[in-house]
Amino acid sequence: MRRTRNAKIVATLGPASSDPAIVRRLFMAGVDVFRLNFSHGDHADHQQRFKTLRALEQETGRPIGILADLQGPKLRVGRFAAGPVMLEPGQVFRLDLDPAPGDRRRATLPHPEIFAALAAGAQLLLDDGKLRVVVEQCGRDFAQTRVVVGGTLSERKGVNVPGVMLPITALTDKDHRDLAFALEHGADWIALSFVQRAQDVAEARARIGERASIVVKLEKPSAIEQLDAIVAMSDAVMVARGDLGVELPAEQVPTIQKRIVRTCRKLGKPVIVATQMLESMIESPVPTRAEASDVASAIYDGVDAVMLSAESASGRYPVVAVDMMNRIIEQVEADPQYRQLIDASHVRARPGGDVAEAVCCAMRHAVALLHAAAIVCYTHSGHTSLRAARERPESSILSLTPVLSTARRLALVWGVHSVHIADVADVDQMTERACEVARRDHFARPGACVVTIAGMPFGTPGTTNLIRIATA
Ligand code: PGA
Ligand code: MN
Repeated sequence: MRRTRNAKIVATLGPASSDPAIVRRLFMAGVDVFRLNFSHGDHADHQQRFKTLRALEQETGRPIGILADLQGPKLRVGRFAAGPVMLEPGQVFRLDLDPAPGDRRRATLPHPEIFAALAAGAQLLLDDGKLRVVVEQCGRDFAQTRVVVGGTLSERKGVNVPGVMLPITALTDKDHRDLAFALEHGADWIALSFVQRAQDVAEARARIGERASIVVKLEKPSAIEQLDAIVAMSDAVMVARGDLGVELPAEQVPTIQKRIVRTCRKLGKPVIVATQMLESMIESPVPTRAEASDVASAIYDGVDAVMLSAESASGRYPVVAVDMMNRIIEQVEADPQYRQLIDASHVRARPGGDVAEAVCCAMRHAVALLHAAAIVCYTHSGHTSLRAARERPESSILSLTPVLSTARRLALVWGVHSVHIADVADVDQMTERACEVARRDHFARPGACVVTIAGMPFGTPGTTNLIRIATA
């Protein structure tokens, strides 16, 4: 089974999509990577999803990526004594550490570190930015605020503090428990929420080690300020437009999205565009024209993946949403302008690059000159396939690896058809296997040209140093 597109689809599982039959239909409709959202559901729910996905993988013989998305330090107000409260513009509203249920004058904000970081004049956004208050006075255990934009506030709603670097790390106690669980169950990617600084990524990396790859969610202005450093430390990046659009004015999200995508393509890091892509499909079997256009525009920009959240997790049309996303991607990639735009935005190699860069550059030209049927990458760590994908070449990338976790992780990457194979002993055997799989998975007819790249000696990450052009 093979997909006929380069860009990948990430879909979130939730109450609307946890039945194994639905998960199977989502996969068939085009999902490459499944996201488990640890902000919702308990470990028993997620355990069931791991089981379902690995069974599906067995059944189809196709590696499936599982992305465990940690909640991160999401701030929330406490409970209210008598249901939601109405905050009027101009009134005073107090946030404090008192665990007593709140009312229209005050609420619990159970995060002592926050009070220490706040100062008069700081803005707080409540409930995804729907309400806004400004701090007038604050102490060790309280902040007195004035309501600027009022509205109804109900319990456990999120609090965003844009523009303030909070003295909290990206992993809470809950995240540590969820992370241990996700690693134990074999998650391929771990997504870190509300990363503020490069150090947050380093801390997570120290915990995770080689057990999974890291997706950094860009949703804080402070992370955008250190974009290059943070992207360089990540294995992949998510443009988390939901919280980004709360922390920053909505009109800044498109340009930041483009900047993040450009940075990732330059550094060869997979990039996912997330949130509200087909939002109206939560309730409707067709998207708005603007949503279809949003997905298409991300594809023209050369992103690795587009993502569904509530559309697939809790919406009424999870499978229809995936099918729609799949069709939009195929439509864009069939457009001659797509190749022109991808080529125009290609980051060309410059003198002074390394051997891997030279090999990938040669590969790109060989593929174009010879109209190669496929590019075959032989990889252990996944590095060679990532380097190949960075070239955004004209032929599909057939990625062969004896390492199952690598095969699964690469499901996220642009243009990569990932295959798990038995280890090979030498270059001749590698070429033979490459041609065999290229024929078997309908990438190349017998006699067609196949461009193979790999690193010798096999198994040493980052050594892409071999190009071989063979006949399938
Ligand atoms: P979330 O992250 O869905 O976990 O909040 C994505 C976003 O903020 O866009
Ligand atoms: Mn978010």
